Amino acid sequence: EAKAMAEVDQKGASNGEVHMEELKDASGSTPAGGTKKGPVGKADRVKGCLRGNVLVILTVSGVVIGVLIGLGVRNVGLNRAQKIYFSFPGELLLRLLKMIIIPLVVCSLVAGAASLDPKDLGKLGGWAMLFFLITTLLASALGVTLALIIKPGVGAAAKTSLPGQEDTLPEPKEVVDSFLDLIRNIFPSNLVSAAFQSYATSYKLIREKKNITNESGVTNEAILIEKVWVVCTKAVIQLGDLAAIPIGVDADGMNILGLVVFAIVFGIALRKLGPEGENLVKFFNSFNEATMVLVSWIMWYAPFGIMFLVAGKIVEMEDVVVLFTSLGMYICCCLVGHFIHGLIVLPLIYFIITRKNPYRFLWGIFTALATAFGTSSSSATLPLMMKCVEENNGVSKQISRFILPIGATVNMDGAALFQCVAAVFIAQLNDYSLNFIQVIIILVTATASSVGAAGIPAGGVLTIAIILEAVGLPIDEISLILAVDWLIDRTCTVLNVEGDAFGAGLLQNFVDKQERRRKTEELTEVKTEKVEPVKLPGEEESPLIKKEVKATLERVNSCEKESVM
Ligand code: ASP
Repeated sequence: EAKAMAEVDQKGASNGEVHMEELKDASGSTPAGGTKKGPVGKADRVKGCLRGNVLVILTVSGVVIGVLIGLGVRNVGLNRAQKIYFSFPGELLLRLLKMIIIPLVVCSLVAGAASLDPKDLGKLGGWAMLFFLITTLLASALGVTLALIIKPGVGAAAKTSLPGQEDTLPEPKEVVDSFLDLIRNIFPSNLVSAAFQSYATSYKLIREKKNITNESGVTNEAILIEKVWVVCTKAVIQLGDLAAIPIGVDADGMNILGLVVFAIVFGIALRKLGPEGENLVKFFNSFNEATMVLVSWIMWYAPFGIMFLVAGKIVEMEDVVVLFTSLGMYICCCLVGHFIHGLIVLPLIYFIITRKNPYRFLWGIFTALATAFGTSSSSATLPLMMKCVEENNGVSKQISRFILPIGATVNMDGAALFQCVAAVFIAQLNDYSLNFIQVIIILVTATASSVGAAGIPAGGVLTIAIILEAVGLPIDEISLILAVDWLIDRTCTVLNVEGDAFGAGLLQNFVDKQERRRKTEELTEVKTEKVEPVKLPGEEESPLIKKEVKATLERVNSCEKESVM
């Protein structure tokens, strides 16, 4: 039995190789740590490894050179138009990445959902959602804890107007309307417009004519200003009650949540069609592969684009010293939180579950993390992230292309963390002490509002309004948060995409383990049948049993050739 198990283990290990090979990207690269043997495999591996590292080295150099160029050009004193021209190469990278998002998300999800058994799909989706939920809650808790310890808002002189502070505040929105909008966006009424517009509630003041006279016989007109009833006394006015009625408006910005949900459901429907749906599945698969080829080309432009994105931001920056002196503690609190969560909490979870080196995993996705830092957008980072986890971290296409688009849309650890810090910070600025229940409300609403945040620059800062409304804090101080969002948003986006990548890595580990267990069971079954042959009197071995063992071995071999899914 022990011998059988040892053989099974050995076989399992070699199955790992086969499995990795099978799940290898169509581009033909070998995942880092792959165990392909032979001179060709080794050369491929070295080439693949070098290629990955060249990109990482180029990206790091891009960021460093970008900072240096930015600091140098800042002193030249460019005018507005010149600054725009200067940022052109960076803008080009953003445009390229944005261009690829819709075909990538839709095709990869349709193909991914169609290739998975609905049961596996549910299981994978369930595990991913659980991981996303737990890590986001942990990030929120870390944010609140740090803000309560560091107390960034106590004694902060941040009420003065700050450079870069935006005039445009988010329109105050009822918490219930924010959640209803989230649900409405899951079901877009028009798929074409979902590619560039989403639903958002706005408020319209309507007057309902009513004749009311107050106790002293004086008539007053009431008007609604930002949901506060203000009574204007006038001699004789026809009374009007103003009420804020929620109305739907189409806001600019892709409704990626709607597209994600539609693509998954459409993929499931295609699978259900069976042979009739095969052509369309092939179409989406080919579309997806072609898109990924485009992504691999864009990747080589990324270091140059990132260099100019970083340099352009440094040139554009207003007086940083003023910002740091007034909001330094807040910035520090968010950055510390992002570092702790990104470099300790997430890697630790990954290590505990997989027993693999999480920092090696992080190294594999370094180009994508630098892109997240440069672009401040999870959606724009998605194409590069897929490429990185597949090529460098051995995550299969089925998993990365199914989980990463969902993660980029709903999983935002960084956003939840800084939103919690921001909420506690604003409470402290207003000398508002939070009780335990309010802290819990902040945790829960921050987790929910991070789901609603779009994966675009400053996507999370506007949904802070939901948290502030939920605990009864003034929302106009979001303008302070907006003033420094260009910086916080970068580390926040890095953390958002890092969480998605770790999610994909963990799911791969989960699938590998299941596959290993399944094969072990099948092989043990074969061994059992093999070691206890039924011997008929006068016969060396039953031909019947021989036939059975052969058939089972054939079955196992063919199983090994199948992909994990
Ligand atoms: N910029 C972030 C992202 O794309 C969203 C945010 O602002 O929190 O993930």
